[in-house]
Amino acid sequence: MTAARPAARAVAERVRDPELPVLTLADLGVLRDVTVTGERVLVTITPTYSGCPAIDEMGADLRRALTAAGYADVEVRTSLHPAWTTDWITDDGRRKLAEAGIAPPQRVGPRAAGPIPLTLTPPPQRVPCPRCGSSRTAELSRFGSTPCKALRRCEDCAEPFEHVKEL
Ligand SMILES: [Zn+2]
Repeated sequence: MTAARPAARAVAERVRDPELPVLTLADLGVLRDVTVTGERVLVTITPTYSGCPAIDEMGADLRRALTAAGYADVEVRTSLHPAWTTDWITDDGRRKLAEAGIAPPQRVGPRAAGPIPLTLTPPPQRVPCPRCGSSRTAELSRFGSTPCKALRRCEDCAEPFEHVKEL
């Protein structure tokens, strides 16, 4: 064991999300497991949006970071179950998004199992403006700079902003 080598989990947690670089993989909640067996590191991650091309980039970034930290043998596996939801984004992550002017996703809550009663129709979505806090905002485009974000505009401060869509 090399004493100077940082913990593999700490290294993996600091890797940034390719699509939302203000967030680390720890903030995003995609890091499922980091196991070190001898010289070998096995990292398990859960993809965010299905078919998200960022997952390959995430894997490459993890390998690069861990290799640079002294781990020569790194394997990154993806686990699809349970499926990631935006509820897995940590409170710290939500704060960082808001500070970057990106509206964080609203909490969706546990997925209902079985048929959803009609009385539980979700209320119309209110996404507060990350700049002035106004709830008078409207969606301009379902897709912003990346598929995981929508583009909205605040009717009070007139600023456009991105919103991480709930999933
Ligand atoms: Zn505003």
